[in-house]
Amino acid sequence: MQSNWRRCNKCQNLALSLPGGSPGPCKAGGTHDHTGSSDYVLTQNEKPVGNQQNNWKYCSKCQCLAFALSSSGLCVDGGTHDHTGSGNYLLTQNRNTTDYQQNNWRYCSKCQCLAYAGMPSGPGPCAGGGTHTQSGSGDYVFGQVLASVTFTTTSTTTAGTSKGVGV
Ligand SMILES: [Zn+2]
Ligand SMILES: [Zn+2]
Ligand SMILES: [Zn+2]
Repeated sequence: MQSNWRRCNKCQNLALSLPGGSPGPCKAGGTHDHTGSSDYVLTQNEKPVGNQQNNWKYCSKCQCLAFALSSSGLCVDGGTHDHTGSGNYLLTQNRNTTDYQQNNWRYCSKCQCLAYAGMPSGPGPCAGGGTHTQSGSGDYVFGQVLASVTFTTTSTTTAGTSKGVGV
């Protein structure tokens, strides 16, 4: 399990945000902004069963999580994502959420990134142009860490389908 994955509130992508690390470049300009994001936890290097899918990988250029089975998606840093050295992440799709989990994360067919699709403002800007194209995607579900959850309660910009906090 690996924590420190966070949602960028500008491009909606899930990006790794290690303490002291660079947030990575954002399609919306500047670097990713993880203000208000939960701390999400992903599983890596395990064999998929049931509704699970692997071949999700970290990009060392934009810090995002992208699907890497057949091809690399377009990277905001130029060219395609660079998955060198990444673990093989496992996501679960199309299943009910339990406590401390959040769904409505979707795959974008242009940039291959995983991005949150539950924002009232719509999909975020995409490295492939326009906004993320998420039609046909599974509905991905994963968990959040208790101590780091920083949802505000007064704003519509919270990730609204959170079912709670905890490990
Ligand atoms: Zn971003
Ligand atoms: Zn990238
Ligand atoms: Zn995209």
